[in-house]
Amino acid sequence: MNEKELALIQNGKLNRWTVENSKEAYGIPNWGKGFFTVSDRGEVVATPIRGREHQSISLMDIISGVKERGLEMPVLLRIENMLDSQLSILNESFNDAIRQFNYRGQYRGVYPIKVNQQQQVIEEITRFGASYHHGLEAGSKAELIIAISMIRDPEACIICNGYKDEKFIDLALYAIKLGFKCFIVVEMPCELELVLRRGRKLGITPRLGVRLKISHKAGGHWAESGGDRSLFGLNTTEIIALVDMLKQEGMLECLQLLHYHLGSQIPNIRDIRAGVAEACRYYTELVLEGAPMGYLDLGGGLAVDYDGSQTNFRCSRNYSVNEYCADIIEIVMANLDEKELPHPTIITESGRATVAHYSVLLFNILDVSRFDALSIPEKLPEGSHEMMRNLLDVYTSVNTKNIQEYYNDALYYKDEVQRLFRHGEISLRERSQCETIFWNIISKIAREVKKIKQVPVELEGIDIALADIYYCNFSIFQSLPDSWAIDQLFPIMPVHRLNECPTRRAILADITCDSDGKIDRFIDLHDVRSTLPLHEVKPGEEYFMGVFLVGAYQETLGDLHNLLGDTNIVSVRMNEDGSFDFVRELEGDSIADVLTYVEYDTKVLLTQFRQAAENAVREGKITGAERHKIMHAYESGLRGYTYYEK
Ligand SMILES: *Cc1c(COP(=O)(O)O)cnc(C)c1O
Repeated sequence: MNEKELALIQNGKLNRWTVENSKEAYGIPNWGKGFFTVSDRGEVVATPIRGREHQSISLMDIISGVKERGLEMPVLLRIENMLDSQLSILNESFNDAIRQFNYRGQYRGVYPIKVNQQQQVIEEITRFGASYHHGLEAGSKAELIIAISMIRDPEACIICNGYKDEKFIDLALYAIKLGFKCFIVVEMPCELELVLRRGRKLGITPRLGVRLKISHKAGGHWAESGGDRSLFGLNTTEIIALVDMLKQEGMLECLQLLHYHLGSQIPNIRDIRAGVAEACRYYTELVLEGAPMGYLDLGGGLAVDYDGSQTNFRCSRNYSVNEYCADIIEIVMANLDEKELPHPTIITESGRATVAHYSVLLFNILDVSRFDALSIPEKLPEGSHEMMRNLLDVYTSVNTKNIQEYYNDALYYKDEVQRLFRHGEISLRERSQCETIFWNIISKIAREVKKIKQVPVELEGIDIALADIYYCNFSIFQSLPDSWAIDQLFPIMPVHRLNECPTRRAILADITCDSDGKIDRFIDLHDVRSTLPLHEVKPGEEYFMGVFLVGAYQETLGDLHNLLGDTNIVSVRMNEDGSFDFVRELEGDSIADVLTYVEYDTKVLLTQFRQAAENAVREGKITGAERHKIMHAYESGLRGYTYYEK
């Protein structure tokens, strides 16, 4: 659908908008990857189980269910089967590649807890992942505690990364003693001595890994995690020192794993291949030094195609999961066969690609602000200000041939109006009328611009200035921190009315009223779009939208900006027969909860406010009965949701 066609449809000249047009307009087949599509009823549906795409769950049905249960928007939705599907896809793809190339080692995935630490997520990964011996990666003591409490499968690996103190190391050693396949990865040169000392003290032989500082530098946002200047890992000299120290202590047989992490969201397969090839060289050298090894841990980095463009753009990836797995197996095999060494167990730490798809942020639109809503009079009343007449002249005279000239005039008059207002020469009412005409001029220019080939530079993107603002019931700072902090793009679209043409162009604002609380960059196949096509909100009808692929990194990085807290969370699971159940429900923060987070004692607040109300009674401002009502409103406020409630 190009702009011209869209204009025709908007003007009612072409009346053939179908759900197929919506699919294209929002790119859902590209980023939905078979997990999301649009139904004939024009609603976004989830098809969470691979091979059973005929069974779907409408997000509108979920929203109805949520409302029936008395939960308010916004809601973070998790579709559990989708997480299971992603775990299967990753493990099956590696297993397929292993079979295809006759690789003589195994694949063992681990999920890095930091990507989404929520209990329901880890529970599902350890439960469903057990059939693949999928393990966990822990980067801190807290995460290790989660790992050893949740994992029941003795074959699943636990990888301990991160800066480790004595307590962390002791816990990992005890895990080894208990029979967990737990690896202590040395990230800092100084860690080894501490691990060996604690091992001797507790009488437990450590199972060691070493993190490599890889010199290949990958593109993408998180590229700094890899490369010579990366914060973690050992350089060549430090690795040699580690090997020598282990030899000296007679402990070289403890060294079983080599680890590196290039960074998250690596969009280019060439960087992934280069990283694997370099790591293989280190791995072989460590085996030749006499270390038993056996495990090669390639870290995370498997990207998510957020915009569906399948390119090496930072929010995309130019490879499939199958390609990723096949390339890794092939490169490892080629390198080890060359030296006739046994094939290691390959570990990857995919976080983003495992959990991104399975969460959707659902929200409603609270209000819309439009620039073209006000119409202008055809004739001005007697005695109208000169400026108003000038602007109206511009409005009536502007056409394709003179847009630049009249655009300049309009800007000049608008500045003049502001100046006159400052000097008290025109009234507020007059200024408002002038501005209404001004915005109508801009709208008209924007329409004219679409008709011409050579658009003056200044007028490119003029329609962006005219975009509607849709006010959304969520906080970007709480629910989409990466959208704000690093300009990450997520697919965003309405979840219903998709058999209607979206006739408006909009940017989104959240409810924080912070100037950063907005989204004005959207996914596109070729570039980044500045506006999103949306439907006109009908009076008295709710309009629901979703932000997709938000399962990775968004939940705990969020903050309490404006004291907007955690949203409600519901998990659904699709049954064998295609029906679905609400399996878990987590109520979001109440106002009392968020006040407690910032150290208020709500009892003290209540007492203080009650005192203020009592003083008002004493001073005769309110009656005792009114005090009762006011206190009731206060207390129900404290118990309420932090977002806009209906
Ligand atoms: C963050 C992190 C990961 C996860 O990376 P993804 O790109 O999300 O898969 C894996 N390993 C380590 C060491 C990490 O720090």
